[in-house]
Amino acid sequence: MLKSAFKDAIKDAGLNGRVRANDSACLDQCEHGPVVVVYPDAVWYGGVKPEDAGEIVREHLVHGRPVERLRLPESCINNGNCPHRIR
Ligand SMILES: [Zn+2]
Repeated sequence: MLKSAFKDAIKDAGLNGRVRANDSACLDQCEHGPVVVVYPDAVWYGGVKPEDAGEIVREHLVHGRPVERLRLPESCINNGNCPHRIR
């Protein structure tokens, strides 16, 4: 499960207590697959798999480098007309 993968990755990175993996309600980005948002940066990731958790935590949370490979384009976020949306 995605959330437990993040919890493990956060613990592995020694960020316990500084970073939390929270459930959220539907973010209305379902067409982008499992979506993860990193706050306070408000960087959105789409199509995230459990095996990506380590990379996001290590690169983004530890080193401050967003994982561009998984990043959702700004134009997709909260855009009902984004080309990925399944109608
Ligand atoms: Zn999109």
